[in-house]
Amino acid sequence: MRRLTYLLLFVLLAVAAHAQQAKYVFFFIGDGMGLNQVNTTEMYLGEREGRIGIQPLTFASFPVAGMATTYSATNSITDSAAGGTALATGSKTYNGAIGVDVDKNVLTSVAEQAKRAGKKVGVTTSVSVDHATPASFYAHQPDRNMYYEIAQDMLKADFDFYAGGGFLKPSTTFDGKEAPSIFPQIEKAGYTLARGVEEYKEKCDEADKMVLIQEEGADPSCLPYAVDRREGDLTLKQITESAVDFLMKDNKKGFFLMVEGGKIDWACHNNDVGTVVKEVLDLDEAVKVAYEFYKKHPKETLIVITADHETGGLGMGYEGYTLSLKSLANQEHSQEMLSRAITDLRKAADHKASWEEVKALLADKMGFWEELPISWEQEKLLRDIYEESFVRNHVEFAESMYAKTEPLAAAACRVMSQLSLVGWTSADHTDEYVPVFAIGAGSKAFYGKMDNTDIPKRIAKAAGYK
Ligand SMILES: [Zn+2]
Repeated sequence: MRRLTYLLLFVLLAVAAHAQQAKYVFFFIGDGMGLNQVNTTEMYLGEREGRIGIQPLTFASFPVAGMATTYSATNSITDSAAGGTALATGSKTYNGAIGVDVDKNVLTSVAEQAKRAGKKVGVTTSVSVDHATPASFYAHQPDRNMYYEIAQDMLKADFDFYAGGGFLKPSTTFDGKEAPSIFPQIEKAGYTLARGVEEYKEKCDEADKMVLIQEEGADPSCLPYAVDRREGDLTLKQITESAVDFLMKDNKKGFFLMVEGGKIDWACHNNDVGTVVKEVLDLDEAVKVAYEFYKKHPKETLIVITADHETGGLGMGYEGYTLSLKSLANQEHSQEMLSRAITDLRKAADHKASWEEVKALLADKMGFWEELPISWEQEKLLRDIYEESFVRNHVEFAESMYAKTEPLAAAACRVMSQLSLVGWTSADHTDEYVPVFAIGAGSKAFYGKMDNTDIPKRIAKAAGYK
């Protein structure tokens, strides 16, 4: 009798342990999303409600919170390749490496482990499919800039679902010989290529494996910034919905899905805080898709959100004890879009646009003078650049990692940072701790302080990958 009781207890424990396993895993990475990118967004939402304090994002309300280091094997400040590789494989490596260690040996990613365990696997992003963060989950190359080879690795990894803006180097030449374009290769490898979410919906039932990118003619390097979005643009939320829909088709064993919000980083490289806040909100929209899924499968779903590193050294507080983050609501476009509008104005007016015309553009796009009074010094800063770039016709584009910007657009964003009372220490990455949030099966492993390399190991353990 006693034996039988023990046996029963053992069976019950085994069942309980099994029920705790994360059959469905969502791994969200906000590229460049340090703690202050999250906090600024939450304080912005609070201010928009007319109060001081945070209005929590969905992911920042998850019950488990921790923080992670981000330094790489070779640099105190990581790039997105070494950061992505740490989060994908659990090994620190040199800056620039994709899925290989410091000696260029191939590492195994948590996505590859999931695939071996019979799970369906999706790797998705708001930037190009072959960019450093998504690539770290499926590719093994010594240099993040080997976009063509990375895209080839995507096919080799044979995952079920890939999505993003497009491909940076769909074709190339080796020793003067044209190498085949990725697009016919995608179909030859058994994938269905869908351009846009409508095409995805038409093709998903018939498809075994799927690559979802933007419609023809769109910039393959990324989806538009959330703040610049137009009707019909592909969004990270749609990508996440499509991924869940696709991975759940005839699914018995579960899935692993990585979703990257890649342009938080890009906006931080530009020190464009108005765009950053809207990118973080946009990542939260994608997380909400996962959270809805979690509510239907709470015992079997794990959602983890973190960042590969912080970008910009965003500081909340510029001088004094007041923030004015609600100012950011007046910014209608990203710095890049504002830059294009300024270039267009210069060309349209045959290089003779008046200060009044330029002022009207800045008032319209940034809310300066009207909704947001600016100081004499701030107006002088803008006016001096206008004189230099419009009157003297000497335009020195400000170059950041991912953008070439009209000096006037960069200055307008600097004024916007000042008006909202936030500061920046860098146009590059920093070594700040990044936040980790989690909910669901196995999420307790993400409490407290950890190394970035612990994160994929803990995911693999929660999901039972070997
Ligand atoms: Zn970056």
